Amino acid sequence: MATGMMAGGFSFSENLAMGRKNYRNYGATDSFMDEVRSYRKIDAHAHVGMGSIDYGDSVLFHADKLGIDKLMISRPISDNSKATPENFREVNDFIVECVKRHRDRFVGGVCFNAKYQKESLEEIDRCLDAGMVGTGELYRQIKINDPKYYPIIEKFIDRKMVIMQHTVVGYSRVKWWSAEPKTSSLPEDFVDIARRYPEGMFQYAHIGGGIDWENSCKVLKDSPNVFVDVSGSNGAANMMDFAMKHIGEDRLLFACDNSYYQSVGRVFSAGLTKSQLEKIFFDNYNNILKKSGNQFD
Ligand SMILES: [Zn+2]
Repeated sequence: MATGMMAGGFSFSENLAMGRKNYRNYGATDSFMDEVRSYRKIDAHAHVGMGSIDYGDSVLFHADKLGIDKLMISRPISDNSKATPENFREVNDFIVECVKRHRDRFVGGVCFNAKYQKESLEEIDRCLDAGMVGTGELYRQIKINDPKYYPIIEKFIDRKMVIMQHTVVGYSRVKWWSAEPKTSSLPEDFVDIARRYPEGMFQYAHIGGGIDWENSCKVLKDSPNVFVDVSGSNGAANMMDFAMKHIGEDRLLFACDNSYYQSVGRVFSAGLTKSQLEKIFFDNYNNILKKSGNQFD
């Protein structure tokens, strides 16, 4: 290579010129973003009141940039809290208020701790009466297939609403992450409960959240009433392709779990057809909402 020449046989100044040209092309992303925004989107897994405490304005700031029209919001009861009925009533009150302030954008999901079965059932009634349309992200206090959940699941079957459950972060076929409580729900637990209640609708949360997503997709392959949300901060290559192959375009739900750019990018860059994008971005979750008469159109 001659002095002053760089990779590809171009001089530094030529590379610089090409870089500038590419940078200018970056301006063409205006049209790319127009295309991204042109798809109607429902974020099936969003949180408010975590990190920045406001009534959803910070969430909508990001949603607006990416053309996310509607969001299913909740405030999960973390492992760190006592997860008492008093705790879950408080966070659900907050969600009701957020929905009230942004009724054109938000629907809400109720959170509870099924260890308190009686209080949870009462709270579900209270929140559904207040307009909530499903569960928010239920956490790790108890497994999704624990018998304490049975009457709760039956209530959501009666109301034709979906149950969303957090899954583990860090689980793999090799070993558990030591911080994960053993009451965390695994893909096998979803298979079990979905088989017990074939008329129920379950949402397996965030395959981009750190779990072994290959294992999740394989295990959930033949559970037609388990929907898989593709939210999360991990941008592993081929995750969407793998999910499309094993779960398919009718059971995948676009969602962000507040990782907006990763989650929109992951779906948009997966080489899907227009009709597949329409299903995953909007129609699949809207069809879930339609069963209880809460659809967006
Ligand atoms: Zn989660």
